[in-house]
Amino acid sequence: MRHLIAANWKMHGDLSWADKPDEFEALLSKTDRADIDILICPPFPLLTALKNDHKIHIGAQNCHAAVKGAHTGEVSVGLLKSAGASYVIVGHSERRSDGESDADVKAKAEAVLAGGLTPIICVGESLDVRESGKAVSHVEAQLEASLPEDTSNIVIAYEPIWAIGTGKVASIDDIEQMHGFIRKMVGPYIQLLYGGSVKPGNAKAILGTDNVNGALIGGASLEMDSLSQIARAAL
Ligand code: PEP
Repeated sequence: MRHLIAANWKMHGDLSWADKPDEFEALLSKTDRADIDILICPPFPLLTALKNDHKIHIGAQNCHAAVKGAHTGEVSVGLLKSAGASYVIVGHSERRSDGESDADVKAKAEAVLAGGLTPIICVGESLDVRESGKAVSHVEAQLEASLPEDTSNIVIAYEPIWAIGTGKVASIDDIEQMHGFIRKMVGPYIQLLYGGSVKPGNAKAILGTDNVNGALIGGASLEMDSLSQIARAAL
């Protein structure tokens, strides 16, 4: 399966970042990375500003589940699509910790699919859950409640919360165990990303782990130098 290297810029950047795809292209050209997909998910206003020439995929970090309506401050999947997005991250732990439920995540994933885009559905356990030995059953419950009915065009990102933005990475054994479990649960065709402090130094080992089909990267995706090094590790 192709690897997907997905950058989550979170609430970073300004309009000068519109040039970053060109910067990335100069470091690792489309020809040299023909076997992998690169995705950048910037804050909303940068979706249309990114100078991209269709060389990388563009995605959003969130959406509303409704097609349109009186939802101040929200953005519809249709608008994201017309702005050039082909993926939407849903259920990132930073949003779940702000109150997003499994049911909300499922509704958003359904909306993304109905709009013709691909949802990247995030799941992952807290440190307390990991230390209590219940990480797998926690992720199983999240998946059961967050996945859309039709799973033929989705991506799942396993992101242990305690590894996001902390510099702590899950061990290769833990990643292999969780991804093996998710693979058994969802079948052979769904792309499974790992996220949580992926960096140039650990990318090769993580991306080479069974059932890891790419990475969702926060901090190390802000500099094109480190993002391109991570992408090279997938080649
Ligand atoms: C993320 O934001 O999804 C993430 C994995 O962040 P970081 O790479 O900084 O841990």
